[in-house]
Amino acid sequence: MADHFRALVIEERDGKPVSGFKDLTLSDLPDHDVLVEVLFSTLNYKDGLAISGKGRIARRLPMVAGVDLAGIVVSSRSPDWKPGDKVVVNGWGMSETEWGGYTRFQRLKPEWLTRLPDAFSLEQSMAIGTAGYTAALAIDALERWGKIKTGDREVLVTGAAGGVGSVAVTLLARRGYRVTASTGRPETHDYLATLGATAFVDRAELAAKGGALQKERWAGAIDSVGSTTLANVLAQTVQSGAVAACGLAGGADLPATVMPHILRGVALLGINSVTAPHAERDKAWAILAESLERTLLAALTTVEPLSNLPQLAEDIVAGKIRGRVVIDVT
Ligand code: NDP
Repeated sequence: MADHFRALVIEERDGKPVSGFKDLTLSDLPDHDVLVEVLFSTLNYKDGLAISGKGRIARRLPMVAGVDLAGIVVSSRSPDWKPGDKVVVNGWGMSETEWGGYTRFQRLKPEWLTRLPDAFSLEQSMAIGTAGYTAALAIDALERWGKIKTGDREVLVTGAAGGVGSVAVTLLARRGYRVTASTGRPETHDYLATLGATAFVDRAELAAKGGALQKERWAGAIDSVGSTTLANVLAQTVQSGAVAACGLAGGADLPATVMPHILRGVALLGINSVTAPHAERDKAWAILAESLERTLLAALTTVEPLSNLPQLAEDIVAGKIRGRVVIDVT
């Protein structure tokens, strides 16, 4: 085992969080029960905010960034895990209050670990990552709402060319829904059509302030954008439809009225991947195992080395990343 290994660490400099690469040793890691050799991590929007300093994600410093990791258990003081077990960790406060995945080794609490589903390799689990597993949580929430029929009216995905959006498009299409993709990047239409989108809406159309109740169009929606986009999507959702709200790429505000909820029975379903209980995680991974076509997962994924993270962080916050990015930590 390497004495020293590289990690992306956020530290305080002149009162500001600043990220950079550092050499760590095993004795620098937190004293949790399970030591994991990390093989892959990923890039999510939240990682972009944390690394670039554009959002204050880390709530204690120094912090090893990275909200996801996949690897192999090296040693364990917990009876639940043994050396050689392949594990995935999504969220659980990593990169916020707990040290995360941009490192060759990490020590973790046993209850944060999920056994790698048989359906996926470690690399594929990180191609999915928090973004993909959040898309699956959103689909589970819409299906539990129970009033959206496949083949019915369209289901909208906003921020469609991003990580959550790309996985949501392909999962929904494979499960039989008619998928409309909203994107600000027309050059991604062919890519989104390959994933299963059959119609497109320009991002700008949804970003402009609209009425409290608009023409009913969407049977349901998965929204990564928030702000006026989410308000318009709610106002355009049909009677008894539902919108799963995942993100805030367009803003954390919600300039909406109660009208869609009280006159059309529209539901706003909140999605929180970070502390989702294991039962919900298991359902999300089951949806992914069942409905994520492996060739399409490969088509929406790129693999990058740890050293490229500073630039990738700038790119994802600027909305320039298409699909999912796996970080090869080895
Ligand atoms: P990405 O950057 O990969 O995707 C976000 C997409 O949103 C972009 O690709 C772009 O899509 C669109 N977008 C970007 N900026 C704007 C803007 N200013 N106005 C409108 N649309 C914009 O990020 P992720 O997929 O990783 O995450 C998406 C969102 O979901 C983030 O806000 C993230 O924090 C949140 N999230 C929440 C989770 C939860 O637990 N609730 C878990 C994971 C993510 P396009 O180019 O197609 O228009």
